Amino acid sequence: MIVFDLRCARAHVFEAWFSSSSAFEEQRERRLVSCPLCGGTDVEKAVMAPNVSAKSNRALATAPSETSTEALLKLAAFQAELLRRSRWVGSDFATEARAMHEGERPEGPIHGQASAAEVSELVEEGVPIAPLLFPVAPPDQIN
Ligand SMILES: [Zn+2]
Repeated sequence: MIVFDLRCARAHVFEAWFSSSSAFEEQRERRLVSCPLCGGTDVEKAVMAPNVSAKSNRALATAPSETSTEALLKLAAFQAELLRRSRWVGSDFATEARAMHEGERPEGPIHGQASAAEVSELVEEGVPIAPLLFPVAPPDQIN
């Protein structure tokens, strides 16, 4: 399996897995690759991810009957479900995550924005955070 960062015509970036580079080209030409955010099939390769962990490879390898699109849609649905129960904290993410980690606030699922510097600080402090599988637009920017 190979992972590509793809970008649709509306500049949404998302990841998709393919059995090979040529499989991606073929599926793209047949317009089987669509953006999970807008459904656009006009996609192109962004930057190829240099490292795919063995763990994520194995997880996908357990479902060989699924097409990449189905697997991708499941991941998108999984993230949507997580976000439905999660609170958007915007640019306060680092502050909120740290406060919960230090017991200053009750713990609960949150998501928001953090700079690269904030992310590395949180990781160093042992605050459990994870990147989103797919980029999400802040609620106040959705039309
Ligand atoms: Zn899109």
